[in-house]
Amino acid sequence: MTQRQRCGSRRVFLTLGGLTLLSGCAGERRPAPGPTPGTHPPSSPPASPPPSSPPSRRIPVQKEPRYVVPASSARKGSKVVALTLDDGPDPTYTPQVLAILRKYHVTATFFVIGKSAAAHPDLIRSLVDAGHAVGTHTWSHANLSNLPAPKVRHEIRRAVETVTATTGRMPDLFRAPYGSWSRTVFQECAAMGQTSIAWDVDPRDWDTPGSQHISSRVLDQVGNRSIVLNHDGGGDRSQTVQALRHFVPVLIDSGYKFVGV
Ligand SMILES: [Zn+2]
Repeated sequence: MTQRQRCGSRRVFLTLGGLTLLSGCAGERRPAPGPTPGTHPPSSPPASPPPSSPPSRRIPVQKEPRYVVPASSARKGSKVVALTLDDGPDPTYTPQVLAILRKYHVTATFFVIGKSAAAHPDLIRSLVDAGHAVGTHTWSHANLSNLPAPKVRHEIRRAVETVTATTGRMPDLFRAPYGSWSRTVFQECAAMGQTSIAWDVDPRDWDTPGSQHISSRVLDQVGNRSIVLNHDGGGDRSQTVQALRHFVPVLIDSGYKFVGV
């Protein structure tokens, strides 16, 4: 089976007015977007910029998000998988996830919500200190497909600035809430140097189907170069934590190496 066939069979999506809505996060409820942003001239970000300083590192505009790990990250003779966690940081669940990852000596990519990152800078720093990658997931978990470009820009920029100010490094990975991508999102991401990252394995843990279901869905769907979606915030994630305890060691025993997205 080709990579494209494999991905196509796994993704659950609807096409609405040119937008691709993937199933992740679909059951979440989040507060309304923040206030209307101001506009700022672009400049190169210092190590710890003030909140109003916009990140600027333009990259080519993507036509679609990345669904699988790049072939360049594949390793000869072994399978690779990228574990991703959205909607944190959460003071209850993020430390539990970190403990599991630490136990098995694997790293993951956390797509954090700006508001939560601002409320829990210690958790953001603990992610970085443990060697995990931190991307952003908007400021307020807004559905970007409903917003004009300036608000899309604000949602992305404010989260990027918060993580930059907290860690001293500008994140460069972005995931749209609800998998709600649009050309505007890709354009704004490109202007801020943000690569858009989706997934090809969604166990729908946000729908709390039970830890066994979450784990079996991951193990049934995963393949070489998969990007697996899970959540460490946004609700009761005890089932996700329990599922991770099961499927992470199974993946390791199956020969998978954990890599970045
Ligand atoms: Zn989300």
